[in-house]
Amino acid sequence: MDVELPTMFPWQREVLERALALKQENRLPQAVMLETASDYQMDDLARYISMLLLCDQPQNLSLCGICEACRMMSAGTYADFSLVTLEVDTKSKKMSKNIKIEQIRNLIHELHLTRKYSRLKIAVIYPAEAMNKSSANALLKTLEEPAAGVLLLLVTRNPGRIPITLRSRCQSWTIDPADQQASLEWLTDQGGDAKTAAQYLQYASGDPLLAMDLQQQNYAQRVDSFKSSLTAFLRGGKSVSELCKNLLSGEVSVSRRLIEMTLKAYCYKACGIDSTGGSTASMPSTVEWSRAQELLDLQRRAQQQLQEENNLDFQLQLEDVLISLKQILTRRLN
Ligand SMILES: [Zn+2]
Repeated sequence: MDVELPTMFPWQREVLERALALKQENRLPQAVMLETASDYQMDDLARYISMLLLCDQPQNLSLCGICEACRMMSAGTYADFSLVTLEVDTKSKKMSKNIKIEQIRNLIHELHLTRKYSRLKIAVIYPAEAMNKSSANALLKTLEEPAAGVLLLLVTRNPGRIPITLRSRCQSWTIDPADQQASLEWLTDQGGDAKTAAQYLQYASGDPLLAMDLQQQNYAQRVDSFKSSLTAFLRGGKSVSELCKNLLSGEVSVSRRLIEMTLKAYCYKACGIDSTGGSTASMPSTVEWSRAQELLDLQRRAQQQLQEENNLDFQLQLEDVLISLKQILTRRLN
């Protein structure tokens, strides 16, 4: 029987090797804080590392795919594995922003049940920074009375947002961001050409998984179409609602990314910085600095205004940001 296995990425090897070595030496800690720079595929990462630790015969960091643990984990029926993450709120139908205390209480209850198999019992929480204080405290109590053969895996992008009391109880593992070369190699291995890979990696600020996702969404095309609409808007040839229509034709996350990228580019330009972070030939004058300051303020404001997903006001907020941008850019400097 073929089972569907989660994916491992080359830049995760170091942490996976460490996890497996600790298991083989019988030195796995009770709790691990796994830090990753990318929130893309956090789910895959958590599942992969768990399966690797449960698999009876992993080969060179690959899962065997045929043992009891591999088969049951793939089918989602392995009793000694629990995963807690953000859920859709039954009332608001929106993705909840926090991991709820009831979820943590249920998890703690499961952790105290007798193990069904002779392997480890693994509990994963991600994104761990989405736990509120009472959830973190409840978890902390569990760590003070450890159960044998249990591994708690907290996956996070922001360990700093997890209470230090909880953090200090965990062994810290970090997945370093993939370097440029490795990212490009991986992206081209997925079937793209080198030029496209480089372009998307830049769009994704160096995150290869995000680059892949953007590529699948045809982001470059969206950028081109948005750029020409924006130019028309700034020159008075398009209304703000027409521009928003263009922006909102795809996923909200893509629209937000387009706006963030645009504002960042204008800020860089106004501050006399090129896109690689180096300075351009001409330093801005004092009046240009005031424009740069306004753009930086707008960038910050836009980040807050456009934060909410599925916000009914999203279009209004978007229009507000775009009108402000036009005002700043078209104001005469003197
Ligand atoms: Zn296996």
